[in-house]
Amino acid sequence: MCALCASRCLQRAKIIVILGAPCAGCGTQSPNIVKALNIPHLDTGNMLRMAGLAGTPAGLIAATMMKEGVLVTDDIVNKIVQDRINEADCANGFLLDGYPRNAAQSEVLDKYLAGNGEVVTDVLVLNVPLEGLKQCVTHRWTADGGDEWTSDYLAFRVPNSLPAGAEPYCQLDDLKNCNMWDDWTHEPLLRRADDNLKTLAERVKIFHLQTYPVIDHYKAQGVIRDVDAYQQERKVWADINKVLGAPPMPDLQVVKPSSLTEAVGVSQVLKTTSAFAFVAAAAIAGLAMAVLVRPRSGDMAEPLLDA
Ligand code: AMP
Repeated sequence: MCALCASRCLQRAKIIVILGAPCAGCGTQSPNIVKALNIPHLDTGNMLRMAGLAGTPAGLIAATMMKEGVLVTDDIVNKIVQDRINEADCANGFLLDGYPRNAAQSEVLDKYLAGNGEVVTDVLVLNVPLEGLKQCVTHRWTADGGDEWTSDYLAFRVPNSLPAGAEPYCQLDDLKNCNMWDDWTHEPLLRRADDNLKTLAERVKIFHLQTYPVIDHYKAQGVIRDVDAYQQERKVWADINKVLGAPPMPDLQVVKPSSLTEAVGVSQVLKTTSAFAFVAAAAIAGLAMAVLVRPRSGDMAEPLLDA
């Protein structure tokens, strides 16, 4: 019997996994999901970074591996996830983002949940065509704190600081001419060195090799919820809402990540790429419409570097 069962013997209503290729929009849609369902967002990249900052032995090993740009070993990630899902705020369910990332991790997760008579209830797959991923990485601007914006990609937000029609520009050594600033944190937005088509090609390849087997694994359990994300952000959200059976959210408004964190009672600070919260009767000015898609297998024959 697992620790959770020994203490509470709960059967959580929603145990959701979100999957998508790099830049597919998991970070954009996850805050919507956790807000709608009032469950915490368990972003493993963020959890590992925090374990590194906390200086735990496993966290320090994870930090070194992340710095080297390799995946953290399964035993470390599995343990960090298992500890986290035993926390009180996961009592009604949780959203896993970035885990499981390979078939072995999904088997460990299933076995762990089975100790409490639980299963993954939904595996949400964001379908993204390759051209959308390319456009995303070539137009993504990132704040130091992790918020992600775009100068020209429907899936992400455009910052208010970028005047219509202006060329996006921001360099750390020339901030007086910067026109890409985080609306919420006021940090300068910078282009990440690894946001290029070559790195995208490598990451998409890894996604296919390692994460497609996770989709196959859950297909057998009948819990895959495919979403065509190559459409406006609110339509994507509407489809996600429908497949997850979340309560209707009449309208949406952009809010700061911290507001979202407080709203769901999550102890961890979200580093996520986005921070949309859905608020009734809210204005939507400044909201970038999202287009999220997962590469289809046919797309992958297409060379990534020719765009
Ligand atoms: P992300 O924020 O999802 O891009 O993750 C950042 C880094 O965290 C990755 O490059 C990996 O080193 C590590 N990481 C996140 N999730 C996992 C996972 N499920 N398995 C192994 N490593 C992970």
